[in-house]
Amino acid sequence: MERRKAIPYINDEVATRDFKYYIFDWDDNILHMPTKIRMEHRREDGVWEPVEVSTATFAMIRSDVAHYRPPSDGGWNAAFRNFADEPGRNTFIEDTIAALEKIEHGEIPGPSYNAMRKTLREGRIFAIVTARGHSPETIEKAVRIFIRYALTESEREEMMSNLRGYRKWFDGVTEFGTDAQELDYYLHMCRYSAVTHDAFKVRMEADPIYQEKLATAELSAKPELAKEFAIRDFVEHIFHTLKRTGGLGRSVSIGFSDDDKGNVKSVSSYIRQELSKRFEGIKFVVYDTSDRTLSKGRKVCVSGQLNLPGF
Ligand SMILES: [Mg+2]
Repeated sequence: MERRKAIPYINDEVATRDFKYYIFDWDDNILHMPTKIRMEHRREDGVWEPVEVSTATFAMIRSDVAHYRPPSDGGWNAAFRNFADEPGRNTFIEDTIAALEKIEHGEIPGPSYNAMRKTLREGRIFAIVTARGHSPETIEKAVRIFIRYALTESEREEMMSNLRGYRKWFDGVTEFGTDAQELDYYLHMCRYSAVTHDAFKVRMEADPIYQEKLATAELSAKPELAKEFAIRDFVEHIFHTLKRTGGLGRSVSIGFSDDDKGNVKSVSSYIRQELSKRFEGIKFVVYDTSDRTLSKGRKVCVSGQLNLPGF
């Protein structure tokens, strides 16, 4: 067995690392969630009956309008009720726990599950960008649950050691808070964007550029636009953080992973046409995780700043 090095209280080696940040889609990318979409299915005799379908099944039947439709009572809002916060009940948290417990019992996790684990272990800033409608607080809570289930005790210790390393290096901190306080600080640096959450929609509609984009976009292109907005938000956040702390002199890369081919395509072209021009020093990498038969679970689609050596 490999002998592990003792984990230092503060990992000063983080100061020698490159800057890598990640944006993760949640469903079927990090975790296969049991959350069901409520639809109606047309039986042979022509009667429509309520059915619940998984996100994976939904992707296949969504265009079969002859046999499937959203609930006649409530439409699409009713179809996706389980994908938003409801008073007194939090399906997202319950489903996250259920998905993580299945992994403990041997089920294959989402294709970016290990990338998410590594990101946390290394203490890197990340964003969750999902089409769901939860509040940022709900998603952050799910990430905390992920940390508890998916990292071992020594991996959590490693994460804390890295977090202290970054705090010392970036902020000049030498006196640290409790683990809980340092974890709070880290998780507050990250971003949690559920693009169908009301507050997110309000913020997007107040942005002059997106106001114009939304006004001219087709209805079907709006979810992709919202993901675009969330990504721009995170890239700006990283850019300003690095500028403030003088970190822009180094190689910076931002990865994006999603299992939805439509999102991968639109985000790739957004990066090519806009982001890579606006943020010339940043390398962008897009991971397409739609093909479950790939051994690594993902393929690399686009990277900005192609002149970087080694890529
Ligand atoms: Mg997904």
